[in-house]
Parts: sequence; C-alpha cells; structure tokens
Amino acid sequence: MSATGRVALFREPRHPFDLVEMPVPEPRPGAVVVRVRIANVCGSDLHAWRGDFRLAGLGGKLPTVLGHEMTGTVAALGRGVERDSNGHPLREGDHVVFTYFTGCGNCLSCQRGRRAACDHIDMAMTGNATEWPHFVGGYAEYFYVKPGSTIYKVPLGLPIEIVAGANCALSQVIAGFERASLSFNETVVIQGAGGLGLYATAVAKAFGARLVVVLDAVGDRLAMARRFGADVMINVAEDTDERSRINQIRVLTDGRGADVVMELVGRADIVPEGIRMLAQFGRYVGIGNINAGHSHPFDPSRLVMSNKSMLGVALYEPFTLGKALRFLERNRDRLPLDQLLSAKFPLDQINEAFAQADRRTVVRASLVP
Ligand SMILES: [Zn+2]
Ligand SMILES: [Zn+2]
Repeated sequence: MSATGRVALFREPRHPFDLVEMPVPEPRPGAVVVRVRIANVCGSDLHAWRGDFRLAGLGGKLPTVLGHEMTGTVAALGRGVERDSNGHPLREGDHVVFTYFTGCGNCLSCQRGRRAACDHIDMAMTGNATEWPHFVGGYAEYFYVKPGSTIYKVPLGLPIEIVAGANCALSQVIAGFERASLSFNETVVIQGAGGLGLYATAVAKAFGARLVVVLDAVGDRLAMARRFGADVMINVAEDTDERSRINQIRVLTDGRGADVVMELVGRADIVPEGIRMLAQFGRYVGIGNINAGHSHPFDPSRLVMSNKSMLGVALYEPFTLGKALRFLERNRDRLPLDQLLSAKFPLDQINEAFAQADRRTVVRASLVP
C-alpha cells in the first residue's frame, strides 16, 4: 500500500472534479482498506453531481468523494478482521465486494433488523474527504470500509466488470422484489431498461415470474433487456400513448394487470402510469425517484379501490449483497453481464465520464482508478 492515493474531489454540483493526493489511512480494528479496481457511475452519483440528490439530507459534507457501486482488492486489514461475512478467510490481495453503507447495530432500527434505516447510518459519499479517513467514496484509488460493514470475498474467476454492479444496482432490485413479495408465476412490469432495469429483468425471471415486460425509450436498451430475459418490450418513444401502453399490459395479463411494477427511471410522471398497470393487490415498487422536489398528481382511489400498495425501497439489508454475489456466480455464463458496462474511463477522465453519463450515451460508465 502506498503512502498516498488519488481521490476525485467533489466540491459542488456541476463543478469539475479535482484529482488530489491524500494520505492512505491505516485501518483501525475491524476496518478494511480496499484498493478500488472499478467504480461505476450510478444514477445517484449522477443526481448528486447534478445537485438534485441532496447529500446534505443524509448528513453529507463537502468536499466529498462520490462513487459507491464498486469492487476492489484488500490493501490492508484492520486488527481482528480475519474472515469475510461468510466466514471465509480474508487476506491482503483478495478480491472483495462490500456494502457502501454501515449500520451502527445498536439503534432501534438496527435492533429491528433494518440496518438500511439505521439512525446513525454511515454512507459512502457523505464524509468530508479533507478529514480522516479521506477515502470516503469510490472515485479514488482506495476506499475505507468501516468496522461493522458486510464484506464478501469474490469467488475466483468472477471478473471485476461483472461484480461491479453487485453492491448497488443488483442488490437494490433483489431487495425491491423481496419487499414486494414477488412470487412464482406472477407478472412483472419494469419501467426503465438502464443498468437497474436489466438486472431487474433477470432477477424477476430468477424469482419465477412468468411474464416480464420492460418499457424504455431507447431501442438498444430494449434489445439488451431481451437478452436479459424480457418477454415483451415496449418502446415508449414509438408507443407514445399512455392508455395504449396500459391496455397492452392488460391484454398480456389476461385482463388483470401486472402483479408487480418496478420504477427504475427516476421520473415522477411515470408513477401514475405504473400504478394503473397493476392488477388487484398489485405492488408498485419505487426505486428510481431519489431526486427530491418532483411531483405528479395521481388519483389515490386507484390504489384504494384495487387494494394496490406502493413501496419505496432505499438501500437493502446487508446480507442481500451475498445473494447478489451468488446470482452473478450462477448466471455469469447465461447472461451478458459483462455488457452492462459500456464505457470505462481512467480516474483522471472522470469529468468526461460524467459528461457522457449525463447525456445518457452510455448504459453505465465506470471509473478504473
Ligand atoms: Zn447506486
Ligand atoms: Zn443503527
């Protein structure tokens, strides 16, 4: 481990990132210093960069380091860390995935088994990078994994490009379907075929959904959705009439509507459409709308009179990451998982990576520090 490492400082929204050298911390007991191998540009990084996802609301301080969907290798283990969360021996150089947030384990939420709702949650992208331990986000050469985090050794042979999406996008959609109690033979509609939507398509199939319909405005993304297992794709740029789209879902589900609709776009105006696509007792899962300040009217009688429910899903319980890893291991040869990352950039080209992600010219850009 070198004495210093580079971080891409995020000073304020839409301001270019600055690359600066910071001292690499010695891990305290229970902590792990990871050499970041790849960190993706996820929707929430992009929203934070645009300024419409307010990190301050999560206790965030600037300047910080963005990036949370990542994987890397162990650079240094703190005292007492000998095994991963599966009980497997952990050594320097091992390839690992880890949660980007840590619950305290003691508050009421943690005691109830809801670490994702911890009262003192410690998240990547919220620490002041000018203060110890400096490496508080993924767009840097190192990341400081705090004591109490969940960390798994990655099975040998699983490439970083495939594992990179495990600790955010993939775990997030698994948690979403679990919260919605998706069960065998049910029907699913997915709004949005970006990285999250493609994972969601494959995961819905793995849960045993008999029909998965994916909506997006980009033909190439829909073609990818097919490769991830989508049964039907609807291009909203061609089929511009909301009522006709809702009707298509009815026809495809024997007049009933879908059991689960998952929102992965991050636009308030698509929520009423998704709710109308649901069957009686259908569950609407909201994941993409993390940007505050947007609203769109909807008629609540459509929920009440059809016994529908609406679930907001932020973060996930840490053991979900273990399930994500198993899913990748099982499907590495069956799904085009390596094609989710469409563009890799070295860390010093982070401004270009964000410009391209902002223009949506790439499915998921990633930084390789
Ligand atoms: Zn994310
Ligand atoms: Zn807690």
